[in-house]
Amino acid sequence: LAAACASVPPRPVLPRVNVARERITRIDVGLRPYRRSGFRVEREAFGDKALVHNYGHGGGGITLSWGSSKLAVDLAYNASVQEYAILGCGVMALSTARLLQERGARVRLYARELSADTTSHVAGGQWWPASVYRTDSVDSVFVDQLVTAMQFSFERFQTMLGDAYGVGWEPNYFLAQYPINGWPTDPHGPLERFVVNKRDLSPREHPFDAPYVRVFDTMMIETPHYIATLEAEVRAASAEIVARDFATPEDVAALPETVVINCLGVGAGALFGDKELEPMRGQLVVLPPQPEITYNVLAEGLYMFGRRDGIVLGGTFQRGQWAREEDPEATTRILEGHARIFGGMVDGAGM
Ligand SMILES: Cc1cc2nc3c(=O)[nH]c(=O)nc-3n(C[C@H](O)[C@H](O)[C@H](O)COP(=O)(O)OP(=O)(O)OC[C@H]3O[C@@H](n4cnc5c(N)ncnc54)[C@H](O)[C@@H]3O)c2cc1C
Repeated sequence: LAAACASVPPRPVLPRVNVARERITRIDVGLRPYRRSGFRVEREAFGDKALVHNYGHGGGGITLSWGSSKLAVDLAYNASVQEYAILGCGVMALSTARLLQERGARVRLYARELSADTTSHVAGGQWWPASVYRTDSVDSVFVDQLVTAMQFSFERFQTMLGDAYGVGWEPNYFLAQYPINGWPTDPHGPLERFVVNKRDLSPREHPFDAPYVRVFDTMMIETPHYIATLEAEVRAASAEIVARDFATPEDVAALPETVVINCLGVGAGALFGDKELEPMRGQLVVLPPQPEITYNVLAEGLYMFGRRDGIVLGGTFQRGQWAREEDPEATTRILEGHARIFGGMVDGAGM
């Protein structure tokens, strides 16, 4: 037995997340702007103005921000128009603003919440379009739009890698009790090209208590730092940001700009009558940073993102829920689930 043991390499070790209620630094809640048929990028006439929609990105708005905003700017930009109104101050509005500024345009952003109070600011920040649409509710036109947006975003975020923006690469371990098919996407489908370094691990190749484990790498965006940096850049390029609550479409019609880009996230539904748009509430439990945790875990409807600015624990996807307050039951479920996952990791010493 001793000889057999000596020839078997120990299971790899990963540092454990220290999950404990007394370590909670904050609870974040955000409302993903979800449309089952996917995000909307479309231009329409709006009185004497042009209105370009750029909203409804569900759980993938950070991921899609540059690409979707590029599609919107392509529809909105006209060399003869100098000034543009952008509704919102989340990731979609800020990315749209930067892309317009890069074309030499002036922008004014109007929003009820400034960037630090938006859903974008609390997003987990994994570069992957999770919970963006239902596969049975989209057509090939949408899938083409999605792939085009992803490609542009994928490239743009790679120019932002490093501390300045808080963007880096991390492995994502997906733990399952059953053989894994089609995760994170259909291997023969159009999104597979964005799946980097995918491999299946045998039980001897990982420390988790799960029979099936698949890992792939994604970029991670430290959203609070990233969003603040983007807002500072937009302001430095002389954008004006106006605190403003729009109650009716007439409020928008009264703006001085002739081209308006709607980046209102979940707020777009009530203002412009989109009944398909609904909130998909997400609650996060944030723990202090553990610099040694440089990986993510997804399991049992839960996820842990090992970000440098804190350990982010999540796993709520509540459609139709508008509450911005903490749900204590969700906090308990998230804590207990992650305690189970990290408590079950082997320490690498045994065979
Ligand atoms: C828990 C959680 C985890 C997530 N994790 C990820 C992830 O890992 N990766 C990823 O890609 N995405 C993730 N997302 C999704 C992402 O956060 C959203 O898709 C994205 O933030 C949407 O950005 P937005 O700019 O469209 O909307 P928001 O950030 O919500 O901004 C909307 C803006 O519009 C303004 N507004 C709305 N209505 C009005 C009105 N009537 N008048 C004036 N202003 C108004 C708001 O004040 C705000 O400024 C996550 C979301 C949640 C909640």
